[in-house]
Amino acid sequence: KLKRLWAGRLAVAHLTACTDQPQPITRSALAEAIDTGAIQPWYQPIIDARTHQVARIEVLARWQTQSGEWIPPDSFIPIAEYGGLIQPLFHALLGQAVEDIKRLKADGLNAPLALNLSLSNLTQKDLVETIAITLASHDIDSTCLGLEITETAITSLTQDILSCISRLRLAGYGVAIDDFGTGQSGLSHLKVAPFTELKIDRTFIQDIHLNPVSQAITKAAVVMAHDLGMYVVAEGVEQAAEAQYLREIEVDELQGFLFARPMPGDAVLDWHAAWKT
Ligand code: C2E
Ligand code: CA
Ligand code: CA
Ligand code: CA
Repeated sequence: KLKRLWAGRLAVAHLTACTDQPQPITRSALAEAIDTGAIQPWYQPIIDARTHQVARIEVLARWQTQSGEWIPPDSFIPIAEYGGLIQPLFHALLGQAVEDIKRLKADGLNAPLALNLSLSNLTQKDLVETIAITLASHDIDSTCLGLEITETAITSLTQDILSCISRLRLAGYGVAIDDFGTGQSGLSHLKVAPFTELKIDRTFIQDIHLNPVSQAITKAAVVMAHDLGMYVVAEGVEQAAEAQYLREIEVDELQGFLFARPMPGDAVLDWHAAWKT
């Protein structure tokens, strides 16, 4: 109950900051937004640190209100989580993303999409099957999709969650541990769960070229991930000097405003045309 109240307060606080007339986000408004397609996938390209090509594209949810304003996910994901709406939200985004992936491919942007999972996705019994059905119905290969799970989402790695991650891997999807370094148990998760990718949280990336503590932690994480056969993504890269340092310590992929902001599907093609030239 407290958590629900907190999520609600967060949402109210956000809307108060962005609009003249503050309106609380209710569960029913969110349910309706999911049903009517008002929640849409935005896309943020992730860059291969060596080749400078697009390595993958993260899918980030955005809610467009009737007045045209875009509400960021931190305001409504907690409400979806506590209101039992994560599954319809995920499947609405996946459904729209597989439509977009075909358009991107046709335009020469052939990179896998990465979707974020919440804790309640991982306890959904038929998650892997429903993803497979959606992809198959659009004739899309499992290598075109990856999933991201935040380190803090899995406070305890139960048998159910572990089995879900394993089944995702068996079905051929990459699985990333997201926001690495922010939780309490990231290292123990790595010991048991078959993650393919480690995403270092942006708190370590910010000013990394100037910060010996961030450097020590990030360098160690890169060596560890590579020894475990995982590749490493740095999140929140905003400055060229950060990117330069991250290349030197052999981070594999870079994500951040320096390269691209999250954007709607149409804008990705324009961005890509400019990126190639
Ligand atoms: P995340 O998965 O860590 O996603 C990265 C966040 O960092 C995004 O915020 C992105 O816009 C932001 N970001 C990327 N590059 C930079 C940068 O260079 N500087 C800064 N300051 N920020 C950067 P966003 O889109 O607001 O998403 C926030 C969080 O909401 C995500 O964090 C993710 O945990 C969650 N989220 C987003 N979409 C979904 C979804 O469909 N399902 C679930 N369960 N969670 C989602
Ligand atoms: Ca993510
Ligand atoms: Ca992250
Ligand atoms: Ca995050």
